[in-house]
Amino acid sequence: MSTLIAHLRSTVGAAHVLTHDDPATDLSAWEQDWRKRAHGRALAVVRPGNTAEVAAVVKACAAAGASIVPQGGNTGLVVGGVPDNSGTQVLLSLTRLNRVRAIDGANLTMTVDAGCVLQNLQTAAAQAGFLFPLSLAAEGSCTIGGNLATNAGGTQVLRYGNTRDLCLGLEVVTAQGEVWDGLSGLRKDNTGYDLRDLFVGSEGTLGIITAATLKLYPQPAAKLTAWAAVPSMQAAVELLGLAQQRLAAGLTGFEVMGQFALGLVDKHFPQLRVPLWQDTPYCVLLENSDFESEAHARGLFESLLETAFERGTVTDAVVAENLTQAKGLWNIRESIPLAQAEEGLNIKHDISVPVSSIPAFCEATDAELQRAIPGMRLVNFGHLGDGNLHYNVQAPEGVDGKAFLRDEEERINTLVFDAVARFGGSISAEHGVGSLKATKLPHYKNPVALSLMRAIKSALDPQGLMNPGRVI
Ligand SMILES: Cc1cc2nc3c(=O)[nH]c(=O)nc-3n(C[C@H](O)[C@H](O)[C@H](O)COP(=O)(O)OP(=O)(O)OC[C@H]3O[C@@H](n4cnc5c(N)ncnc54)[C@H](O)[C@@H]3O)c2cc1C
Repeated sequence: MSTLIAHLRSTVGAAHVLTHDDPATDLSAWEQDWRKRAHGRALAVVRPGNTAEVAAVVKACAAAGASIVPQGGNTGLVVGGVPDNSGTQVLLSLTRLNRVRAIDGANLTMTVDAGCVLQNLQTAAAQAGFLFPLSLAAEGSCTIGGNLATNAGGTQVLRYGNTRDLCLGLEVVTAQGEVWDGLSGLRKDNTGYDLRDLFVGSEGTLGIITAATLKLYPQPAAKLTAWAAVPSMQAAVELLGLAQQRLAAGLTGFEVMGQFALGLVDKHFPQLRVPLWQDTPYCVLLENSDFESEAHARGLFESLLETAFERGTVTDAVVAENLTQAKGLWNIRESIPLAQAEEGLNIKHDISVPVSSIPAFCEATDAELQRAIPGMRLVNFGHLGDGNLHYNVQAPEGVDGKAFLRDEEERINTLVFDAVARFGGSISAEHGVGSLKATKLPHYKNPVALSLMRAIKSALDPQGLMNPGRVI
């Protein structure tokens, strides 16, 4: 392996190949995942600066039989982007590939390197007068390559789709170290199998995404945010239906937050001033993007909420008066995962079921969990408009989170995933499979789909060196 390290150093420069040989070098930022569920040991952390260097690194690793774990911002939640404990894997960090290559206003596209931080892309698009709508709480750290590799969702899926829907083309380094230039900005191209869709969501198991051509949208004239207390999950779903009817494509966000989840934000970040949470089981955050004017948006919101009050689907509501207030409301929503982490380790589920089944799913599964673990605390929140809940289980008050995970994680996962399957849902809505759910997939994924996935994996990565042990 020392020959490989020497080769990598000559390829990308010694400063960009970090190893444990130097005791002063701390690799934990790359070796430990965001949730601190896994801390591996890499043979080396390699940081190429362009696509040609990525290709050379992959070729060298393939020749040496070394497996590769690609990594962007390391914000993934399913332990997919950190090395295992073997000390033999090359951690390929893409963060030095961080250029916006081109913005084509007439085609409404931008072509960017995979290591660009999502927030920087939102800013670059805005500076050019456009909207790049992908948005999630990790946007200050996650990279577009990671977003594509996990087909990330976030808060705007309702209107603009998942990352897959925002991608028109890819540049990929294959497992053999070849470069596939598929950076077309075409919206129509029916010339055979869709390779782009194969790599999107593949979590680094088929190849390395080095660049992408992404869709841009016009900026809305105004964005308005409202926060509503609803008396039940059923009422939240009814409010969603009403909002879709009244706001149509203007409805760009619809998030639900359970009382306990909001209580955690209130407890750990009291400065955020969570509104209306104390007397209601759920609150909902709605966003209306309007292409006419703020007055038009406000009028639509007011009439929507008036009808919702009359029908009893909303019991109280506030509409943000300005951008600062709107940001404050979104900040509360996005602080739930952080508040939850402050409270202690918990068992996370990122699940989806058809929107129409969400109330029945919650009622049945909440009760089943309470029977299985009396006193367990449910941190239930998520992108209701997409049928996606972060349905997380916190230990009963006073129970140590670590012990809770050790003793109960398997049982709780099975209970929740079985319920998801009964309601026709998915055990991973937007975070991916990684290694956390890789062993679960055979139980819940259609067997024909699984064998097709395995065939694709062995066709594209016959040596099995691309992020092994992840997904399948
Ligand atoms: C606070 C918080 C909130 C979050 N909210 C959301 C949310 O709302 N919606 C959502 O979908 N996710 C969410 N996530 C999860 C995470 O941010 C996303 O999965 C994100 O897309 C990961 O990007 P990353 O650059 O950090 O990827 P990493 O964590 O570095 O990697 C993720 C996976 O992609 C692979 N990978 C990374 N880059 C490449 C590449 N260039 N080529 C091939 N494979 C690659 C890795 O091997 C790994 O398997 C959240 C995470 C946090 C911490």
